[in-house]
Amino acid sequence: MKTIEKNQTYTVTIDDLTHEGLGVAHIDRFPIFIENALPNEEVEILIVKTGKKFAYGKVLQRLNESIDRVPVKDMDLLRSGIAPLSHMKYEYQLAFKEEQVKRVMNKIAHMPEIPVFATIGMEEPYAYRNKAQIPVRKMNDQLATGFYRKNSHELLPIEDYFIQDPEIDKAILIVRDILQRFKIKPYNEEENTGFLRHIIIRRGHYSHEMMVILVTRTAKFFQGNRIAEAIQSELPEVVSVIQNVNSEKTNVIMGKEDILLAGKETIEDQLLGKTYRISPQSFYQVNTKQAEKLYQTAIDFAQLKADDVVIDAYCGIGTIGLSFAENVKHVYGVEVVPQAIEDAQYNAKINGAENVTYQIGKAEKVMKQWEQLGIQPDVVFVDPPRKGLAEEFIQASAELSPDRIIYISCNPATLARDLERYGELGYQAQKVQPVDLFPQTYHIEAVVLLSKAV
Ligand code: SAH
Repeated sequence: MKTIEKNQTYTVTIDDLTHEGLGVAHIDRFPIFIENALPNEEVEILIVKTGKKFAYGKVLQRLNESIDRVPVKDMDLLRSGIAPLSHMKYEYQLAFKEEQVKRVMNKIAHMPEIPVFATIGMEEPYAYRNKAQIPVRKMNDQLATGFYRKNSHELLPIEDYFIQDPEIDKAILIVRDILQRFKIKPYNEEENTGFLRHIIIRRGHYSHEMMVILVTRTAKFFQGNRIAEAIQSELPEVVSVIQNVNSEKTNVIMGKEDILLAGKETIEDQLLGKTYRISPQSFYQVNTKQAEKLYQTAIDFAQLKADDVVIDAYCGIGTIGLSFAENVKHVYGVEVVPQAIEDAQYNAKINGAENVTYQIGKAEKVMKQWEQLGIQPDVVFVDPPRKGLAEEFIQASAELSPDRIIYISCNPATLARDLERYGELGYQAQKVQPVDLFPQTYHIEAVVLLSKAV
């Protein structure tokens, strides 16, 4: 076997894609991962990094072009990882995601027979994100906004983020210029000095209400209120300006403390015709239109009946359960972030839902408490973060013995692992529907119906 060394060049043919959408080529069966390269393309590459089991290559020249390729709008969208699939035709992105789900259903869940449907895509698969989290750094003595270069913390200045609501892109620049005018010091990550770390903006897809969160290293914010006033006067959609304090040397963007600088503490938006209040610390689906399709798929899978008792686990601000509360007997929601539960309680009220009960806590613990209280759910919805369900949760949910479990997942690998476990406990996966919540990126969302074996 040839040894692959850094700085060598090769001509290779791409034969596969990684789950992150990198092209894969093999030299004597040794895999090379290559950005911006699609299956069947022949490319001349430079080896830029080598490891024991694989290497990374960079395209020097493309000798032919895949029929599934589209011109990349801006190379920074690939370099920064903002839109790592933006060199693929959208139809191809959807097929890629379906294929990724099929792979894990086969290899991890060992259920090749379970149907995986074609990914539900967007008509206009860009400009969809209702939230931006933008790092602020000093560049050429100016306050700059942009995105990190992939696998680094080097800032690439960016103005058009392609997948974000364009009104958010505009607002970032206006806020940046106001901060510059007030001579605000950008954060310095190496030294953990400076002041302004991130600008976070949320904009309601239907309401157009905007929230601006300024994440700062220290609490004292000289002229904070005047800056907030300037933001509101230059951006009339902004109804909420919040300072969030994060003094830690960490990759986590937000700290725990929120300080109101101007306007109100929350914004509102709509989903499937219901209204929701959203706090700075609460999770809210970033692609509103596709979230509606995702929820509708989950609801259709659940075949809800008027006397059903339903658990909405990992409920956030209550959006899944409140979408159908009027059609069932009772909804129990559990969520670990206290502000999100406060939002959920408020949201139940403004949408006239009286048959809902919310509990702050870890889902895996609260499920056991509910079991002890004798709650007997017919349907359990789960919508966990990327790490999937804890073993404790899977056991407790199976012991509650619901008829159906609806699993909404943002990570096919942990989904497949959990489906196998549910299979052992008598819950059989029936069908899988991927929904594209994150066009131009490799993130995959999927809904699964599980039924109790009879
Ligand atoms: N269903 C909601 C939220 C989904 S995101 C929606 O569609 O908007 C996942 C949620 O799980 C987040 O709100 C997160 O705060 C919450 N979470 C994470 N770990 C948890 C745990 N162990 N127990 C309960 N909730 C948890």
